[in-house]
Amino acid sequence: MTRDLTGDFQTQRQAVDHIPYPTLTVRRDRLARLARMTKHHQLEIIRAIQTDFGKRSDVEIRIAEISSVLHAIRHARLHLWHWMRPWSVSMPWRLLPARARVSPQPLGIVGVMSPWNYPWSLALMPVVDAFAAGNVVMLKPSELSPATSALLMRLVPQYFTHEEFKVVEGDVEIARRFSSLPFDHLVFTGSTAVGREVAQAAGANLTPTTLELGGKSPAIVAGDADLDKAAAAIIFGKGMNGGQTCIAPDYVLVESRHISALTKALSEAIQQQRPNDQAATHSINVTHQQRQDALLQEAHDHGCRIIDHGAHAPALIIDPHQGLQVMREEIFGRCLPVIGVNDMQAAINFVNARPHPLALYAFTLDKGLQQQLLQTTHSGALVFNATLLHHAVPSLPFGGIGESGMGAYHGRHGFERFSHLRSVFYQSKRTPSHMLYPPYRRWLMKLIG
Ligand code: NAD
Repeated sequence: MTRDLTGDFQTQRQAVDHIPYPTLTVRRDRLARLARMTKHHQLEIIRAIQTDFGKRSDVEIRIAEISSVLHAIRHARLHLWHWMRPWSVSMPWRLLPARARVSPQPLGIVGVMSPWNYPWSLALMPVVDAFAAGNVVMLKPSELSPATSALLMRLVPQYFTHEEFKVVEGDVEIARRFSSLPFDHLVFTGSTAVGREVAQAAGANLTPTTLELGGKSPAIVAGDADLDKAAAAIIFGKGMNGGQTCIAPDYVLVESRHISALTKALSEAIQQQRPNDQAATHSINVTHQQRQDALLQEAHDHGCRIIDHGAHAPALIIDPHQGLQVMREEIFGRCLPVIGVNDMQAAINFVNARPHPLALYAFTLDKGLQQQLLQTTHSGALVFNATLLHHAVPSLPFGGIGESGMGAYHGRHGFERFSHLRSVFYQSKRTPSHMLYPPYRRWLMKLIG
């Protein structure tokens, strides 16, 4: 496919040049249309996502794909007037009576590249924040969720002009060319490996990027934790979307003396939450399913104990060797290694010896340990006694650090991420020029110190 993307891009550039600062009313209207597009076509969205996945729970689609977008829009529409207001900053007394403030300004055209795992919400969540900040958007959804991408392609022009919001479908070649366009900001959600390529392509244009990447998010279970509650939360996070969630717990670290009790609790949680393999989301395609099977097979061949409750439910791999594939790559599926460590310091060392994760989950009520984790580890988010729920707090910045990404969005953080925070200085008419400009007075040097 050899599509020319520059024509679409130029159309948007002209629109931005024509209206560089959309008003509050225009932005709220764009957000309202985005909400209507999501609300009025819920059944089509559910059907498209189920077509892409083969099988996916419609309750999960409603929670994670539809209502997450609607909540984000509601939050932005409610707070936008406040976010858009310039704010004054304090002035050093030497420069008084001048004034200074910060004035958020739209960047222009924001490019969004989205993955297949939450094909509606991860395509639209960055659009919400980009619209709130007064930008127009070009979106390239994933080719691995073609039914949802086709639905976006069909619905978006019914609610938006091409100048406001353009969807571009296509394969990896189109994705490469998309990431080479001279956007004013580019948001990429996907794997760390592709994120590197996207950042390089954007770097050639000096386009700033927000990279929402993946990695292995650990769950640490401390000795004081309620094992049943910890297991329920871990299986909730792993079971959601068949483990195909960027912030799913990737593996569990627990003190060795508790490993068999925790394994039992995890196993019970699987049976409770995913009985008879029901209500489990399937892998996005055969290749991904086969990859999970291969991870399990390799662990089995190396003598690991495996507890498998069905083809689509979380599968526990007890104490795998660190050289196995399941411990070297992001799992992004139903496998869940459970690893014994001597103590909590060993768990922290284990996490710190690996790239910074997108989320770090810790199950403990011990304030000292909580403080230790806060001060001695790095991660996009640190979550105590729960999994995934931080994603639903619109006032928390969502993003990674190091290999799990750069830059964060959601709520006000997204508004500021996709705005230019412009410094504005107002000199006072009461400041006499001769006080500042050459020839310099002796007393001025004293004043500067
Ligand atoms: P991916 O990196 O394989 O693909 C993402 C997008 O990049 C696709 O649309 C694809 O067309 C495009 N692409 C592929 N090769 C490219 C190239 N060379 N240049 C430019 N674009 C290219 O990711 P995926 O498999 O769709 O998603 C899974 C990954 O995404 C996991 O690692 C997961 O952790 C991560 N993820 C992160 C977040 C987050 O918010 N941090 C959310 C969801 C998924």
